[in-house]
Amino acid sequence: MTKTLVCVAWPYASGPRHLGHAVSTFIPADIVARYHRMKGDEVLMVGGSDMHGTPVMVRADEEGVPARVIAERYHAMHEKNIAQLGVRYDLYWNTADPHHKTWVQEIFLALKSKGHVYEAKMSSPYCAAGRHFLPDRYVEGKCPNCGFARARGDQCENCGHLWDPFDLIDARCRIHGTPPERRETNHFFFRLSAFEAALERWMSKGKEHWRLPVLTFSRSWLEEGLKDRPITRDLDWGIEVPVPGYETKRIYVWFEAVMGYLTATKEWYRRHGNPDGWKDFWFDRDARHYYFIGKDNIVFHTLFWPAILMGTDEKLTLPYDVPATQFLNFSGERMSTGRGRGIWLSDLLERFDPDQLRYYGIATMPELKDTDFAWEDFAQRNNSELLAVYGNFVHRALTFADKNFNHEVPAAGFLDAVDKAMVRSIEHQWKKVGQNLDYVHLRDAMKETIQLARLGNQYFDEKAPWDLVKKDRAACGTALHVALRVVRSLAILTAPFLPFSASRVWHDLGYDSDVHQRRWDDALDDVPAGQKLRVGKPLFAKIDLGA
Ligand SMILES: [Zn+2]
Ligand SMILES: [Zn+2]
Repeated sequence: MTKTLVCVAWPYASGPRHLGHAVSTFIPADIVARYHRMKGDEVLMVGGSDMHGTPVMVRADEEGVPARVIAERYHAMHEKNIAQLGVRYDLYWNTADPHHKTWVQEIFLALKSKGHVYEAKMSSPYCAAGRHFLPDRYVEGKCPNCGFARARGDQCENCGHLWDPFDLIDARCRIHGTPPERRETNHFFFRLSAFEAALERWMSKGKEHWRLPVLTFSRSWLEEGLKDRPITRDLDWGIEVPVPGYETKRIYVWFEAVMGYLTATKEWYRRHGNPDGWKDFWFDRDARHYYFIGKDNIVFHTLFWPAILMGTDEKLTLPYDVPATQFLNFSGERMSTGRGRGIWLSDLLERFDPDQLRYYGIATMPELKDTDFAWEDFAQRNNSELLAVYGNFVHRALTFADKNFNHEVPAAGFLDAVDKAMVRSIEHQWKKVGQNLDYVHLRDAMKETIQLARLGNQYFDEKAPWDLVKKDRAACGTALHVALRVVRSLAILTAPFLPFSASRVWHDLGYDSDVHQRRWDDALDDVPAGQKLRVGKPLFAKIDLGA
């Protein structure tokens, strides 16, 4: 049994999340986890909220409350939104947990004892007006790369370029507006440069299944040469540095958040009374670890985290795939929590069916290049694809059988060439969907799923059961049987993508079991004749933006 670890990027607990975040992390991770569970793999999906970091502190400063208040508020919101969206983690955790802290400090000390973590002086930006150091997001300035006016001290949010705060043009303190001075201060560094050769070897083979933008970006970093990176900050919110003299500093959030995939696995096993069980996932070279992240996080997962793993214990499992997405933009601008733009998940979930949001998110998923969220497109794709193709096919097959065949699945008689072709199409589409899911090509996987419903509609039109029922009742029963068999397959094939409607279709077909407990191969099975149908209302509502 293949072990599949599904790792989901840790959203900052600094504000509501936007749809773009869900589309690059929660939703694809959930699809892949659900699919592999149905395939019979041993799956664990972990992640949680990133409680630390300057985004949380900036928000706390703005509201005049302690950072913990902000972090706990938005952690609760993320957890709620994730459940509403039908995303099923095995553990949705948070980085303020004392176990995470203990394990992070252990890894820190292990790396330090091996010489991979060392102390050095660095010149840090300091605000004389407010008498404070200025870690990353406390500095703002113009991006030298793209000219974006409000680039942060650690990274330009617009183009994704990583920066040192002094690289920015007209850098200033975010609170006091004063230009930063340089102050010498001691910090710990991770010796990333020492892992360059090992990372090059690792990146050069067995990466054929990786997305090209992820590979290209990571390799260009390697070509530029890797520099050691600071892993502590002048902050009072975060995980304490387990070294005397560092009481006013904390572990840099990038360094501890990536460790969360490992610590969350440990935590899940600890809670299940098997404290060493995590090793099954992390000391197994055949285990497949997937990381679902946005493109601004690529090198943290393709270079920095693998280096930390190599440095901690050479036997630890490295990422199998890092299917990072590009950005889902809103009116051409990137959705961002920090800048207050974007479409809040919490608002969308109040207004729309979660499967409609998932459908549009998958259909426009920026797998290889940036895509746009457009309201008209959202309504149009829901109404003309999800509703008109899939919802309509399911509804017409169910209601026709219900009305004309005593509320049950009619028996199949002799299958003619058209019936047989329809049955063959089930297997054909099932294969295509599975192959796309194996390669994390989620847009295509869902497209091929909807294609089966489209073929179902064509079959239904060709058979014209409304005429056939008057001429040849047995042949009509066969056609309805085959159509309901397609509906049954669709319930299983859509389960990873559209979990709520899949459950409803399964229920309406008369099953009392849970479609999410079915095996992927069950999509090829027939529907039992005589099973009582329970036809409810149509699967999806029309989206009318004017309403
Ligand atoms: Zn200041
Ligand atoms: Zn930029």
